[in-house]
Amino acid sequence: MLLADEAAYVPGTLDICGDAALRRHWLALFREHILSARDHVAREHPDEPDLVWRMDGATATFAAHVDALACDPLAGPFDTLTLCAERERLLRAAGVDDPFVRVKARENEAALALLPRVLEELDALGEGDRLHALACGIFAGNVFDLGSPTTAALFERGGSAFGAVRDRLRPRPWLVDDLDALAGRLERRIDHALLFVDNAGSDVVLGMLPFARELLRRGTRVVLSANRTPSLNDVTHDELVALVGEAARVDEALAAAVSGGRLCLVTSGNGLPLIDLRSLGPELREEIERDPPDLVVLEGMGRAVESNWNARLRADTLKIAMLKDASVARHLGGDLYDVVLRFEPGG
Ligand code: MG
Repeated sequence: MLLADEAAYVPGTLDICGDAALRRHWLALFREHILSARDHVAREHPDEPDLVWRMDGATATFAAHVDALACDPLAGPFDTLTLCAERERLLRAAGVDDPFVRVKARENEAALALLPRVLEELDALGEGDRLHALACGIFAGNVFDLGSPTTAALFERGGSAFGAVRDRLRPRPWLVDDLDALAGRLERRIDHALLFVDNAGSDVVLGMLPFARELLRRGTRVVLSANRTPSLNDVTHDELVALVGEAARVDEALAAAVSGGRLCLVTSGNGLPLIDLRSLGPELREEIERDPPDLVVLEGMGRAVESNWNARLRADTLKIAMLKDASVARHLGGDLYDVVLRFEPGG
C-alpha cells in the first residue's frame, strides 16, 4: 500500500548470495557479529548466567547456519533480510528476547539528557541551517549501531559521542545529497508524514525526534513507526512510547503534539533491522489506509539502503542513512561513513 508497484518490489539492494566476494564478506560479518553479541550478553548480564547459557546455544546454532551457507557455494538463496530473520528466530527459540536491552536503556537515558540542549541549538538556527543541522543530527545519531562491527566497537569503548560525531561528518555535498530538494518540498505543505525509525539512543532521540518536531512545527501530522519486537539495538515500539513520553516532559512542542494527537506512534509490526514494505503490521496498514502519508521517511542503512534503496513509493520519500558497511558504501559508489540523503518525489 506504500509501494508504487508492489509486483516489481524486491526488498534487497545487494545480491549478497550471487556475488562470491559479497557472499564471503556478509557471511563472515554475520558470524563475527553473533559471536560479539554473545560476548556482549555475557558482559552485560553477569547476574543472569541462565540467559548467557541460552545465548551460547543460539550463537552456536546461528553460527552453524552461517557456516553451512559458507561451505556450500550453491546454498541459498539468502540475503541480509533472511539472515537477520533467521538470527532473530533462533534467538527467540533459545529464549533470548533482547540481547541489547541494557545498552539501549543506557543510550536512551544518555540521549534524553542531551535532548534539551540539542533542541535549543536547533531552535537558534535559521530555517536553512536548521534543516542541514537536523540531517547531520540524523546521520550522527545513526552511528549508534550494534549491528555493524565497526560502530559496535566504538560504543563498547565508551558510549555515544553525538556531538563529536556530528562535528566530524563529511561535509556537503554528501555521497547522495538531495537536501536542497527536500528543503524545497518542505516549503509546501505536508499533511501527514510517516517516519520509520531505526536505532534506540541518540539515533531516535537526537536525530529523528528533532526532525519529527520540525515537521510538526510546519503543520504536519507525524507518525513514528518502530519495530514491534527487538532486533539488534533498534528501538522497539514500547521503548519509543516511553521515550516520547520522556521527551515530551522536557519539550513543550513535543508535549503539545502528543496531547493534540499530531504526533502518533504506530508500530510497523517489523522485527528486523531491515524492512520489507509488503509485510507491515495491521496497525500501520490501517493507519496508512485511513490517512495515506504525503511523505515517508526511511532511516538507517538497513531500512533505507539495504532493503529499499531501489524501492519506489507512492508518497514522496526520504531515504537517509550513514553507510556503516564498506560493501554497501561501494555499491553506492562511496566509502565507509559516507552519508546519503535521497529525496524522491512520489511515483
Ligand atoms: Mg538499526
